[in-house]
Amino acid sequence: MKTRAHREPTPAPNERAASRRGLAAIAGRLSRARRILAFCHIAPDGDALGSLLGLGWLLKSLPPEPEGQRKTTLVCADGVPVQFQFLPGSGEILSEPPSLTWDAIVAVDSSDERRLGDCFRPSEYGGAPVLVLDHHVTNLNFGTLNYVDPAAAATAQVIVDLADALRAPIGPEAATCLLTGLVTDTLSFRTSNVTPEVMCVAARLMDEGANLYEITERALSQKPLNVMRLWGLALAGLHQERDVVWALITREMRAQAGALDTGDGGLASFLINAPEAKVAAVFSEKPDGQVEIGLRARNGLDVSRLALALGGGGHPQAAGCTLPGPLADAETRMLPLLFACPES
Ligand code: 5GP
Ligand code: MN
Repeated sequence: MKTRAHREPTPAPNERAASRRGLAAIAGRLSRARRILAFCHIAPDGDALGSLLGLGWLLKSLPPEPEGQRKTTLVCADGVPVQFQFLPGSGEILSEPPSLTWDAIVAVDSSDERRLGDCFRPSEYGGAPVLVLDHHVTNLNFGTLNYVDPAAAATAQVIVDLADALRAPIGPEAATCLLTGLVTDTLSFRTSNVTPEVMCVAARLMDEGANLYEITERALSQKPLNVMRLWGLALAGLHQERDVVWALITREMRAQAGALDTGDGGLASFLINAPEAKVAAVFSEKPDGQVEIGLRARNGLDVSRLALALGGGGHPQAAGCTLPGPLADAETRMLPLLFACPES
């Protein structure tokens, strides 16, 4: 990705963000830590990986800790999907953390511990504090220190606030990662939580060297043919009853489309575009037979509460959970809840 040869000076710290309660405490712990282990959630999306990598770049740009060079290790249990491998630093993300002693553990974009995967083992971190940075309204505050801003359009926006709290410059690499988080979680600034402030943060990241066009192309618009074929198979059997629209992705469909580990490729977000739909769902059979359910709701309804009650989480308009299979059982259990989706 091209970066500007001459960048504007970093804008003055955002005082409102820096004064936010909780964030300053986390910034303090990070600036005093020498060995930091940071995680994002399984089945990572652009915000999970963009926030994780953005955090890594910010911490790299901080002055060294008095007792030596700071080292941040980044972990995502499921690795980096191909469409996010353009993100600077993505090659350094591990799927299993090394056994070391840590000064601080960070979890980004994850509303509960389980969503960090089996590689997150808090009992092995001694006295290291777990620092949670997130924007999911359903966050269970599982950390030692938690900073959760449900008004933020993406965890990447929270990381920008953290940069200001740390007084860390945002270079082109961090800017690219963080703008990817904003673009993917807002579907390119089309969701109802996009405010003028979000647009200002995006403009600031562009000014720091992030290429909006390239990010949107690579992280959001591009859909490989195997994902298109999978959509074709799922859409051929599309269901609608009243104002709920849903689709099923079976293991056989995945095999037929050659899309074994692609998630739903954004199908749930596509289904809610139907004017007939107030709630949309994609039920997707995982290799182990469990069923991942992606949920979307029109503005005014809240699927995050349904997801939370079933052990998942998310936002009012976009949430998810995992239920035991078989697929038909998960469908039978979920549908009555979708017909009775609460208002937000
Ligand atoms: P998606 O449908 O795009 O996978 O997920 C929509 C939103 O719900 C995202 O914010 C995602 O992190 C959250 N989400 C999806 N599945 C789960 C889950 O099983 N547990 C939790 N806690 N959140 C989920
Ligand atoms: Mn997010």
